[in-house]
Amino acid sequence: MNTNFLKTYYEATVEQPSCPTQSGRTDTRVCILGGGLAGLSTALGLAERGVTDVVVLESHRVGHGASGRNGGFVFGGYSLGNADLLASLGAQEARRLYQLTLDAVGLIRQRVQQYGIDCDLVDKGVILANWFNDPARLETPRQLMKEAYGVDWEYVPPGQLKEQLKSDRYFGGLLERNAFHFHPLKYVCGVARTVAGLGVKIFENSPALAIEKRQGKYVVRTEGGEVHADHVVFSGGGYARGLYRPVERAVLPIATYVVATEPLGDRLKDAINCESAVYDTRFAFDYYRPLQDSRILWGGRISILDRGPEAIAGLLKADLVSVYPQLEDVEIQYSWGGLMSYGRHQMAQIGQDDDGIWHAVGFGGHGMAPTTVAGEVLADAIAKAVPIPAGFRKFGLTRTFGLAGMLAAQMTYTAFQARDAFDARRLNR
Ligand SMILES: Cc1cc2nc3c(=O)[nH]c(=O)nc-3n(C[C@H](O)[C@H](O)[C@H](O)COP(=O)(O)OP(=O)(O)OC[C@H]3O[C@@H](n4cnc5c(N)ncnc54)[C@H](O)[C@@H]3O)c2cc1C
Repeated sequence: MNTNFLKTYYEATVEQPSCPTQSGRTDTRVCILGGGLAGLSTALGLAERGVTDVVVLESHRVGHGASGRNGGFVFGGYSLGNADLLASLGAQEARRLYQLTLDAVGLIRQRVQQYGIDCDLVDKGVILANWFNDPARLETPRQLMKEAYGVDWEYVPPGQLKEQLKSDRYFGGLLERNAFHFHPLKYVCGVARTVAGLGVKIFENSPALAIEKRQGKYVVRTEGGEVHADHVVFSGGGYARGLYRPVERAVLPIATYVVATEPLGDRLKDAINCESAVYDTRFAFDYYRPLQDSRILWGGRISILDRGPEAIAGLLKADLVSVYPQLEDVEIQYSWGGLMSYGRHQMAQIGQDDDGIWHAVGFGGHGMAPTTVAGEVLADAIAKAVPIPAGFRKFGLTRTFGLAGMLAAQMTYTAFQARDAFDARRLNR
């Protein structure tokens, strides 16, 4: 096995903070379960509102889950598509929820500055490249974004796109200028250091094992002790299992994969001649971006299978070469997978259940801005009793039916992928 496959590219290029393990009894106002971006954004939101009596329990290291292994795209919107958000909520509430994600993109930028988080942020937008020789695949979302959300995604004609992305695969694109990409694990670690500096206690290698209610308090059991809290926030993403059924049964863990090439030096520009991040118009799209050390970070595929790094490297190398045949001989030096958490309705699940436990899950493959939204919404709710926006309450903790739900999801993905392959053959002749 390639020895680099033992770590993700992100793990290999970050200095992770080291936090103690929980033991004995800890009393706190808020106990957050999960040290991903949902949990840590909630901790930071609380600390910024003056609530620093907060404990974060993380079963591994902070950023161990999706938040520290993702593509690093930071853009507006949710995992539920913008058209479906509009259809589900109507114009006013859809626009309100979408605006929260734009605010979150701005807030992440601001926090990077304010807290001095060094996370390789490249503020050059995200390109949606058209995989199909069908202009409507760009025009329809462009019009939707303009009319329903008041956002201008700029058209990039095919010739101009070809100068930036040296591939025959694409038929023009849209540039979301108010978007950026970054090293997500560096950002997560920066947020962890910031909240720790503000007084939040983070415990790593401290899985929460059970949540009980005793004398009006929540008691979270760990291997070595207990955390007694007035509030509990469940933010275990697609990784929590056997801790709290009401939330876990509303979430499907779905895998997606990422690789990083060797540094390409000047060859990078023969493929990607711009600094934007890129994804395409298929259901299971490729997503990729140039890194500062001239590697390409390439992601793609969605599956219920959590494959090993060798298999992932083979699959994604083939995807990369199908778009950039000129990179046939490049070496894949890092390869990993991660689990996203999906609600059945595909919308982020942010709220409080009947037992009073707060939750922030279901961010799917589009979670950097929405987890930051969740942090703000939950911090407002806990610190200031501000109600959760009605739009989120509409998407509840809908049951996903475990294995049956996973198989149904896989069948849906396979059907969408087959439809895209058929359309590409038909349209791109
Ligand atoms: C490969 C990949 C690529 C992606 N690309 C992008 C992208 O480019 N842009 C984008 O916006 N989104 C992307 N996403 C989605 C995004 O990463 C997620 O939506 C987001 O990170 C979810 O954050 P989270 O905090 O909810 O979950 P996670 O980051 O998974 O965090 C959950 C944490 O809870 C911990 N945990 C679990 N159980 C327990 C327990 N019992 N006790 C204590 N801790 C526990 C886990 O160890 C984990 O650290 C991608 C996801 C993946 C997997």
